[in-house]
Formats: sequence, structure tokens, C-alpha cells
Amino acid sequence: MNLTPRWWIRIPGVLAFGFIGTSGPWSDARGEDPGPALESATMAEVSHATPTPDPAIGEDLVSELGARPSALLADARVRAFMGVYGPFIDSVTYRDDDIVFLLAGQAIHFQEGRMLAEEHLDHQDRCDSIFYRYSLTPLREPVLPSGGPVRFCHDVQEALWGQGEDQIRGQASPTTFLGRRMFLNDLAVQALDEVERDVLSLSATDPAVASWIEDVEIAYSFIDRGIAGTGTRSQHAWGLAVDLVPASYDGLQVYWRWTRAWNRNGWHSTPLEQRWSPPDVVVEIFERHGFLWGGKWARFDNIHFEYRPEILEYNRLVEAGG
Ligand SMILES: [Zn+2]
Repeated sequence: MNLTPRWWIRIPGVLAFGFIGTSGPWSDARGEDPGPALESATMAEVSHATPTPDPAIGEDLVSELGARPSALLADARVRAFMGVYGPFIDSVTYRDDDIVFLLAGQAIHFQEGRMLAEEHLDHQDRCDSIFYRYSLTPLREPVLPSGGPVRFCHDVQEALWGQGEDQIRGQASPTTFLGRRMFLNDLAVQALDEVERDVLSLSATDPAVASWIEDVEIAYSFIDRGIAGTGTRSQHAWGLAVDLVPASYDGLQVYWRWTRAWNRNGWHSTPLEQRWSPPDVVVEIFERHGFLWGGKWARFDNIHFEYRPEILEYNRLVEAGG
């Protein structure tokens, strides 16, 4: 088993947001018309196309943006993305009215939360923002759907993790969680190790946590599949999601599609106490380490956790006042 963290795995969490807005040598790439020369002009100055173990990379990158006054810099989504994925970002510049992130040589345009590769800039009406509101505290009542399923486009994931299974597997490793074998993206491997450490530690004094651990029967991780009923690929396809299936749901509801099968019109209002759920503190531990819980979605999936630290960070920033 290869659990040796890659250089960049150690970096998320090191980056803070305080440096947004600090002064620094802003290269006015927008004024210099990055245009077709976007890659060469900006990469020559701040390119880190070949990752090296340099924790200062993200700070260099962000401090350059931080000196430029712009409404975009006040956008919590931009700040969350840069804070979490700074080590993966080769450069950040402007093109037209967009902030453009260069990820592994691929330009990704930020447009109102949508993040699109150049060739997909005309997909604005087919892709939703990759950011959304997520409750950082336990739900008090069901979240109601506010439209159809979110249409996620995968340009960011493809830039970061590759498009084919071989590329995705190349940035993933086998691991175990509570004794169950898994295969996950290396970022998620490290985060899940930390989740395991915390839940095991807590289980010594919290019987509900010990019982939840005891009940985990099956674990699913990397699966090359889409989200049921949509053209969207699941986070499982990137090795960034885990399903932790208990021995029994005790007759409770667990997945919106299964509930909808017999409760066509009322599935979304299924009371929380009628849904199988891990203990709140387990969810909190997963969130602390970058995983969302599917039980907080309107289309609930209560055995599902996925590694989306940018969503959590975005919501923390919004809750803190933006
Ligand atoms: Zn799942």
C-alpha cells in the first residue's frame, strides 16, 4: 500500500485567506491582453507546471491576485477555490471578464461559479455553478429541492485528475477505512485517514459512534459511474466519494430515489427522524476533513460522503460574512 503523501497533499489547510487583499506585485495580465498568449505570458512569470514541494507556491499565486482590486476577488467562491486548490493552480489571470485559473496547463474560466474549459465556454446554459449552499450544522428540517438536479460539468475535475480511468487511477491509491478496503484519490486518502483517526478516538467515549462503526458493513469508493438519472458523473468516478453502508437501515429511508419510488410526491419531505443517518458528530468529523455528507442534500443520499473542501470553505466564508 502506498500511503506516502505527495507533496501537494500536505498543503491544503496551510493556505489561509488572510492574504486575499494584501498588497503585492500584481502583473496586470488583463491590461496586457493575455488573449491568445494567455499561457505563455502568464506561465512565464508564475508557472509551476511541474509541481515541486514548495509550500510558498500558493501564497505567491494568490498574493499576485490580491493586489488587484476587483469585485471578483470579493467572491467567496473564488477565494474558496484558491484557498483549497492553490497548490494545483499554475497561474491566475484575467481574460475578458473572467478570472482564469490555469490547472495543469488547462485554462478554466470562472463565471458566476461555473468553471469551464475554453472549449466549453458556450456551455453556460448546460452547466450550473460548482458551488452551492450546504448547511454547516445538523439539519433541523428537510431541505426542499429548488429545481431540477444540479448540472455539474467536470472541467475542473478533468483538469485536476484526468479524463480517463488510467489517469484518475494514477492519482489514487488503495487504502482502508474501518477495516474496509477502498481505492481513492490521494487527497481523499489522507483526509479519510484523519476521519478514521477521529472517529476511532471518539468511539472510546461515545457509544453512538462505536455503534455506527460496528454497523458499517460495506464500503464503496472508486466506481466509474454517473449520478443515477443524470448525465453527470458521480464523485465516485474521481475516487473522491465513499458510501458507507450499514448492516441495516432499521426500516428507515436512506436514498431519495428509493423513497420516491413509493412516495412520488412527498419523498422530499420525509421527516429527518424517518431517515437513517450516522451520528451528527460523525458527519461533523467528515466535514472537518473536507467531506460533504449526502444526507444534507435535498436529494438525500445518507450513506454518501464526498471530498469537496471547496464547498465547505465557500459556505464557511459565506457564514462568516462573505
Ligand atoms: Zn455514493
